[in-house]
Amino acid sequence: VNFFLQPIRRLTEFAQQYEEGMAGFSRFMDAMNIEPDIIDSEQATELKDVAGMIKFNNVSFSYKNGKETVLSNVNLEIEPGKTVALVGPSGAGKTTLCHLIPRFYEIDDGEILIDEKNIKDIKLGSLRKNIGLVQQDVFLFTGTIKENILYGNPDANDEEIVEAAKKASIHDFILNLPDGYDTYIGEKGVMLSGGQKQRISIARLFLKNPPILILDEATSALDNKTEIEIQKSLEELSEGRTTLVIAHRLSTIKNADEIIVLTNEGIEEKGSHDKLLKKDGIYAKLYKSQFKI
Ligand code: ATP
Repeated sequence: VNFFLQPIRRLTEFAQQYEEGMAGFSRFMDAMNIEPDIIDSEQATELKDVAGMIKFNNVSFSYKNGKETVLSNVNLEIEPGKTVALVGPSGAGKTTLCHLIPRFYEIDDGEILIDEKNIKDIKLGSLRKNIGLVQQDVFLFTGTIKENILYGNPDANDEEIVEAAKKASIHDFILNLPDGYDTYIGEKGVMLSGGQKQRISIARLFLKNPPILILDEATSALDNKTEIEIQKSLEELSEGRTTLVIAHRLSTIKNADEIIVLTNEGIEEKGSHDKLLKKDGIYAKLYKSQFKI
């Protein structure tokens, strides 16, 4: 298969978007209706050799069109390479908190640091290049499978694409499609299942290879076998990366280095599964109601 029989213009567009730091985000941002007014400050610099420490210092945030403060004086620290599970009731602000790290929204107060550097002083493109995002609703666009994976890193070669697809357990499936990696997906192409889309987005992230990972764990939609497989791929992906996961599964929560309980009152509890169960507080309650023990 010749992967490179694509209109050259389209590939150039990819490259340009990437240069502007929008790879994987521009279309997502369009889709999410995210404020486009966030721009680089004059002193903004690139992030280099990211270890992946994330810190929130007294962060407060409210949506411009919303009345209420979603996050108020949030303090949080994630060590490089650690996995932190974010749990809490619906509407507590888990997704919001995660979306502040790639700076989809400007915070009202406090600061967010990556490796001790304020994200406001980091070039937006550089910031977002270092963060991988796995959403519940996977965002794929009309084009070939290969283009969709390449979005993670337009400079990648065919070998790297295949390697990423293998890690995401989607390579064999792709080979069985009529045009392999050049198969069109979307409206006029092959329709993919939720699990297949997830895996393509995971392949994209293996290719992107970001030191920081944000996972919004799926609550439903996948069958058991697919779910277990995807879970495995995600575990492999998070290996050695700072990972913040909005967790819905017990296995994820138990495997996390730390659990953060976010409620409407803010971060109410922090610690390991065992520690929080012993404490018999909000986490213990949440855990018992969610997992019906
Ligand atoms: P869930 O577990 O249900 O996904 P969550 O803890 O992730 O909930 P968020 O999605 O972060 O909570 O929402 C926190 C609050 O912010 C909610 O009151 C929600 O209505 C509000 N909110 C979320 N997104 C926006 C937005 N784009 N504009 C205005 N308000 C929003």
